[in-house]
Amino acid sequence: MGQGLSPYLQRVAANILPLSQDQEDVVEALKEWEYRGDKSDVEDAVETCQLCDHYPIRYQFEIVNRFTNYRLDIGSECITRFDVAVIDEEGVQQRGAVAAKIVAKDRRKLEEESRRRTVRRALVQLAKMDQRINSKMLDSIANAADDRGLSPKQASLVVWRLDENGIELPRSYLKVMLKKAAEQDDLLAMEDFKLKQLWPCLTAAQQRWYSEKKPAFDARRAKLAAMNAKPGHPPLRK
Ligand SMILES: [Zn+2]
Repeated sequence: MGQGLSPYLQRVAANILPLSQDQEDVVEALKEWEYRGDKSDVEDAVETCQLCDHYPIRYQFEIVNRFTNYRLDIGSECITRFDVAVIDEEGVQQRGAVAAKIVAKDRRKLEEESRRRTVRRALVQLAKMDQRINSKMLDSIANAADDRGLSPKQASLVVWRLDENGIELPRSYLKVMLKKAAEQDDLLAMEDFKLKQLWPCLTAAQQRWYSEKKPAFDARRAKLAAMNAKPGHPPLRK
């Protein structure tokens, strides 16, 4: 076994052949395995891919041998690289691009769950430490962070209080919503120092949107302010 294989494939062969029906041909042996949707996040990159020995991996995808029932926890990249079969939601075996898409989607799901957990933890910690934010307020913020995202004002408050309490949270984990007109206006009207804190939470598209809209928004505000400040001008009547 293993003659003429790259060192990489030799490692795969050593791992998989003893657990497969075909104990000679690594390519044939790989065809016996499938990913059925069982995956986990060990939260720290501390695991080794049981197929190729790659270290470290964080997201483990379980593959099962159809004949021997042996199981291996491997990296999602390896499923795609070796075209391991993927069982879709209807129970149909997929390979190639369709399989890769399912694996990528499952991987994103794990990452999204991890993001939510991390945000929750930071907010719980904040509730314990911070006197300025009461737990009810934090509850609604936490729910918003889970669901649709935070309004610019909520996000600004959270970032400010996290910083103040020295609680670490990757800024991109906080999602800011800019769908409603009120949310858009709140962001455009935000003071510079607050905006600076909030900026890393915004997506590239949101940052572009802001840079495009801000000049006209400021011009409109300046015009309104000038109109209101005109002395001796009686209010217009209809
Ligand atoms: Zn691997």
